[in-house]
Amino acid sequence: MNVSLDAIEDAVFKQINGKGVVALPVLKGIEAALDAGLQVKINMVVKKGMNESQILPMARHFKGTDVILRFIEFMDVGNYNGWDLNNVVSKKQIIDTIHKEMPLESAQEHYYGEVASRFRYMDGTGEIGVISSVTDSFCGTCTRMRLSADGKFYTCLFASDGFDIKEKLRKGLTDEELETELISLWGKRKDRYSDERSEGKHKKRKKIEMSYIGG
Ligand code: SF4
Repeated sequence: MNVSLDAIEDAVFKQINGKGVVALPVLKGIEAALDAGLQVKINMVVKKGMNESQILPMARHFKGTDVILRFIEFMDVGNYNGWDLNNVVSKKQIIDTIHKEMPLESAQEHYYGEVASRFRYMDGTGEIGVISSVTDSFCGTCTRMRLSADGKFYTCLFASDGFDIKEKLRKGLTDEELETELISLWGKRKDRYSDERSEGKHKKRKKIEMSYIGG
């Protein structure tokens, strides 16, 4: 189960959610999920000027627990999040910040195409992950396809358009035909938005919103 939690100290958490909600109900929900036997991952988007002060408190809180904390560089997803490169806290800055207090070493990926780089605490008390789509992009090993709630298939988180799978299914596409169609679409994709951003070659375009396709 993935839980989004961008701060653990109430003052910062309240500022982010803008509703005066404190972190405790989220932390209780995480405890309940762990008690129910679920594997929990926490996603924390780190944005300069907003919550970089929370990197250490979050790491301290979840170190030694069964929860895997994943830090995500602030990305230009969708069209309305006001992204600016100056607001990105890099993977290196995140790791250096934690490493000074709680030494880390890099760990092997669990599987091909894993989006988070893994780092484990050298004292054996767990691990963290960093998703570094801005400063250390990984389009070359991207294996993620996404399906929107209205039945469109997207081959990139930053795509403008999707392929209308729902329409084809409504016309009676069989499971085998669907598989062939998806393999064909995936085989033709040329997406490498984050690599192009790193190279300064990405073009401004309208993108699908995260809320349509999930993370
Ligand atoms: S930018 Fe697109 S192709 Fe690159 S890793 Fe992200 S989803 Fe995959």
